Amino acid sequence: MQKLIYMDNAATTRLCDEAVSAMMPFMNKYYANVGGAYSFANQCENLLEQAREKIAYTINAKPSEIYFNSGGTEGDNQAMCIIGKNNKRMLVSEIEHHAVIKSCEREIAKGAKVKWIPVDSNCFVDLNYIKKNAGNCDLISVMLANNETGVIQPISEIGKIKQNCILHTDAVQAYGHIPIDVSKLNVDILNVSAHKFCGPKGIGFIYIKEGTPINPFMLGGGQERGVRSGTQNTIAIAGMCQAAIEAYKNMNYRIQYETKLRNIMINRLLKENKGAVINGSMDNRLPGNINISFEGISSKALIVYLDDHNICVSRASACSNLTYELSHVLKAMKIDEDLIRGTIRITLNHENTVKEIMHVCDVIKEGVSILRNMS
Ligand code: PLP
Repeated sequence: MQKLIYMDNAATTRLCDEAVSAMMPFMNKYYANVGGAYSFANQCENLLEQAREKIAYTINAKPSEIYFNSGGTEGDNQAMCIIGKNNKRMLVSEIEHHAVIKSCEREIAKGAKVKWIPVDSNCFVDLNYIKKNAGNCDLISVMLANNETGVIQPISEIGKIKQNCILHTDAVQAYGHIPIDVSKLNVDILNVSAHKFCGPKGIGFIYIKEGTPINPFMLGGGQERGVRSGTQNTIAIAGMCQAAIEAYKNMNYRIQYETKLRNIMINRLLKENKGAVINGSMDNRLPGNINISFEGISSKALIVYLDDHNICVSRASACSNLTYELSHVLKAMKIDEDLIRGTIRITLNHENTVKEIMHVCDVIKEGVSILRNMS
């Protein structure tokens, strides 16, 4: 059996060894509840405050602006209801993750008005639409990098035109992969998930700019200064913080390496598979993302073929793998539905090798040809 080749790093990543080591002591040695009123809890309290400081540093924020939560879905839900009033007006991009879209639908049912920001064929949001509508809105939500195409959105441009409304960006795919500076972006809320940058699953954080009015999403014991109740997951926070340190320490190298791998792979895939097209801008894109459509085949069949060769890639995104809906992102980009049906997402990271991409290109070429001959 061929060794596993994992190229679905936008879905999740392998927990890095450094994070595993950082987590170990908090499993069964320093297991106190952070809220404990005894010195045994100090180690956990220190961990939390140090992690807050280190993470704040990576995005140029203040430690007091970082709140730990359970990951991307929670952060998106928190952001969509950060404004307590029911009749709020929101501008939200059409290509957001379902965690944002479904939360908006709930807000709409409560009385909110949402205007959906369109994107162009390169997957960039329409800045003119935002400019025209920002004046009378309470919250704008545009993701920093799209989870399907990897296209990086012009958030700092939106930051300049947002006027008085709150600007939220879902940075789940971007954090740990490209540099982020909240003051340059001029965002008020930014959320992150650790398992997308080699940290543990079920942990993340949300940056909320000082002074932003906050309607807490989870109520209870008042942890995280009342913004997010629930006993802090010290084990996962230790892992997330270490994974963030590793990602930021090695970021320049990883960006260059992943970009090189991605470009070699794209060149081969386009050359060897007639009618193949890359979706989304190549100029402003996460380094490891390849979103590619193969005319005349079903991506479902190609993924099964690759799986038979022990290769992991995905259809449009991990969640649409479960529902088998046509990608709302590619539809918003007005890509032909037949092409959407033949689209796969390959997401590389620093652990992939040239040898692996060469092998995967061979298997894709073979698979596409077999599937085309069958139809
Ligand atoms: N936002 C984006 C852009 C994502 O890609 C994902 C996960 O794929 C999420 C939110 C949800 O994150 P989590 O898996 O941590 O709940």
